[in-house]
Amino acid sequence: VSRPVCTLGVDIGGSKIIAAVIGSDGQPGPRVLVPTPAALGPGAVLDAAIGAARDAIGAACDVAGERVVAACGVGTAGTVGPGGVISYATAILPGWAGTDVRESFARALGLPVLVLNDVHAAAAGESAHGAAAGCATAVIVSIGTGIGGALARDGKVLTGRTGSAGSVGHVPVPAAERRRCSCGGWNHLEAYASGPAITASYRESVGCPPGASPASGNPPALPVIADLARAGDPAARAAIGQAAGALGYALGGLLNVLDPDVVVIGGGVAALADLLSEPLRRGVAEHALPGPARAELRFSRLGPLAAVIGAGVAARPGRWLPHESR
Ligand SMILES: [Zn+2]
Repeated sequence: VSRPVCTLGVDIGGSKIIAAVIGSDGQPGPRVLVPTPAALGPGAVLDAAIGAARDAIGAACDVAGERVVAACGVGTAGTVGPGGVISYATAILPGWAGTDVRESFARALGLPVLVLNDVHAAAAGESAHGAAAGCATAVIVSIGTGIGGALARDGKVLTGRTGSAGSVGHVPVPAAERRRCSCGGWNHLEAYASGPAITASYRESVGCPPGASPASGNPPALPVIADLARAGDPAARAAIGQAAGALGYALGGLLNVLDPDVVVIGGGVAALADLLSEPLRRGVAEHALPGPARAELRFSRLGPLAAVIGAGVAARPGRWLPHESR
């Protein structure tokens, strides 16, 4: 008797960790969410993530009794080297680079473990059960504190030689000229179009010092700026529109190279879909060839669960890389 294969998905982000058992239909079991103890270092982050993973397995078994968890997929912030070791991470997870995530999870859980970048994981999720399901080729862009990206072909995500493939945020664009990027480079899209960059542009244009809004004295958060834009505030509309235009500029070039079926926009900033779509399409239309310009533009269907679902999807037996540990 064959039972449906479930896998465990874990999403390790800069502020929170999510774990859930993912069914073969892509449905997540009970979600376990804990804050990421980033400031306490990699050991504490691993402990918290492994604890969440165990709790998620326990919670799923309470619900479904006989569920069998075949493998574990871990999506994590940072660049993941071929052996599941973090090769590069920003200050969002101090000391994370060099951490052997795969070995730690495999030893603790006794399961085959696959580790991948969190945006690569989100792309695997959207490709299997989300906005890119059924599409042969997809470009996925995740816009939040930073800008990540991924390329998926037939549901598999191309990680590249060093695990960096799809880094849309680090494509140079003219709008970002002379801006320093989180990676240390200059002129990259992320420095102009990420959530914090949009907030900074708005502050600059209304002439108030960083950390203060003219109305309340509080720093205007992105949702507030979005509401101002919806109400017709020109500075708010400009900050969001220009960021979306720069994203379109970068995407136009990428579409010419890749000619994908669909582009999926995810991450926290995707909640601004109503404000992003038009300037984004205009930016794409300006730079993409007539064929690639017709790639469908969609917004994430799995939302904040894309990475945890995708990590579980990618870990399905036979789905991704050969499992290296048992
Ligand atoms: Zn960069």
